[in-house]
Amino acid sequence: MITTVLPTYNRAPIAFVRGEGSWLWAEDGRRYLDLGAGIAVNALGHAHPALVQTLTEQAQKLWHVSNIYRVPEQERLADLLVEHSFADTVFFTNSGTETAELAIKMARKHHYDAGRPERVEIVAFEGAFHGRSTGAIAAAGSEKMVKGFGPLMPGFVHLKWPSNDADHAAIRAAITDKTCAVIIEPIQGEGGIRPVPDQCLKGLRDLCDATGTLLIFDEVQCGMGRTGRLFAHEWAGVTPDIMMVAKGIGGGFPLGAVLATERAASGMTAGTHGSTYGGNPLGCAVGAKVTEIISDPAFLAEVARKGALMRQGLESIVSRHPTVFEAVRGEGLILGLKCKPAPADVVKAGYEVGILTVAAADNVLRLLPALNIPDADIAEALTRLDQVATTLEAA
Ligand SMILES: *Cc1c(COP(=O)(O)O)cnc(C)c1O
Repeated sequence: MITTVLPTYNRAPIAFVRGEGSWLWAEDGRRYLDLGAGIAVNALGHAHPALVQTLTEQAQKLWHVSNIYRVPEQERLADLLVEHSFADTVFFTNSGTETAELAIKMARKHHYDAGRPERVEIVAFEGAFHGRSTGAIAAAGSEKMVKGFGPLMPGFVHLKWPSNDADHAAIRAAITDKTCAVIIEPIQGEGGIRPVPDQCLKGLRDLCDATGTLLIFDEVQCGMGRTGRLFAHEWAGVTPDIMMVAKGIGGGFPLGAVLATERAASGMTAGTHGSTYGGNPLGCAVGAKVTEIISDPAFLAEVARKGALMRQGLESIVSRHPTVFEAVRGEGLILGLKCKPAPADVVKAGYEVGILTVAAADNVLRLLPALNIPDADIAEALTRLDQVATTLEAA
């Protein structure tokens, strides 16, 4: 299809015109069960009545004022996030990429202001995804994302994704007197739904404490209730110094946030950072409603229950179709199916039976449904995934 839009995306030839809950309707009238939720963005499904109401009410009052002034909607959302996390302070952005930029700046400035200007290096991990700005691609460092875009921002060290004691020793060796921070996704999203073992996250926290290194968790994809806890790192019983959040927090409205301890954020004084749109009243009003709903312990318990239900169904699909699917990965409702065929082909076969899934690296098919997906829709999703597997077996 020829369009005037820059062709940077490999798009499926489907256009949606309406959504409700976990369902989307295409231009041609076909209905699809949405198991991607806009890549973990539509955390409460499409057209959630409370979010529509919040957005509409705010739209009638005030859209934008500038960060020259106090923004009460921003203060309210910051208070909510602080109340429900390790953080003391919050900065709002419009995307996940921008949270990576601030996390990097904040970590460097923290050491600079403490009289350690040489501590600029950030340890990052293979398979990571932190966004598409020049800083974020340098942080992730994958060949595919950086090729042709040099010179890259210097100051990143890349290590193997940590899963055992040897990897832990490599991290210990990589943290030097030049290191300012370690950045890691507690569960890699784009990298193929790869959870860092709890004891690795604990080990990282210990290493960072022992060396005065700041620990940055990128929870842009795995945070905001996806794992059945508000933030994925809560399962490991450790907290970061800086955390990046985006995707689900706006429920579909572009919004991101950097959460930090007062100590880590100490260098970010007036004039050191800013954003025209970041934290505007529309985004923050919606974000506060999303956060209010998701942070409810009863809601999170439901996410965990639905996740277990879905996982059980997926395990049984894997055992019935071992030539198509190898294993289930993930936590709560951030799940991955390791595929034998190319995941892009599985996604395509999904379109034929009316389900939307998302491919990831490491030959993984991602399932990131709305956190409030009804049990009946989970059952329907499993039936259709089984059909996909049957089709691919025959192929
Ligand atoms: C999507 C994503 C980002 C980038 O977010 P954008 O909103 O696309 O800029 C960063 N980190 C992780 C883990 C992500 O999944």
